[in-house]
Amino acid sequence: MPVCSKCGKQNADDAVYCAYCTTPLTMVPTVQKQTDITPIAIVGIICAFISLLFFPPLFGILAVLLGAYALSKASEDQKSLGWITIVLGVTFMIIGIFLGMFAAVIL
Ligand SMILES: [Zn+2]
Repeated sequence: MPVCSKCGKQNADDAVYCAYCTTPLTMVPTVQKQTDITPIAIVGIICAFISLLFFPPLFGILAVLLGAYALSKASEDQKSLGWITIVLGVTFMIIGIFLGMFAAVIL
């Protein structure tokens, strides 16, 4: 049922103009707008990859934070993307730290 934005009265489903005050009816989306977390997750995954080579604690934590943020905003079908970012962040941070220690021993 479209509700008039001007007078607040309910109108018929197929009404284009309000029957009470003739204001054009705009369909108010009933579905809650979901944030697309893909860009956030991609940045997080890039940070995870950077943490393999540079400053693992910094970029690893950044990746985990971005993943956690993405997860908090994600709709049900995007939750896995947030988890992937977190898991990659943690995994690559640990690998990066070991690689860094390995490099420190060699050099
Ligand atoms: Zn109206």
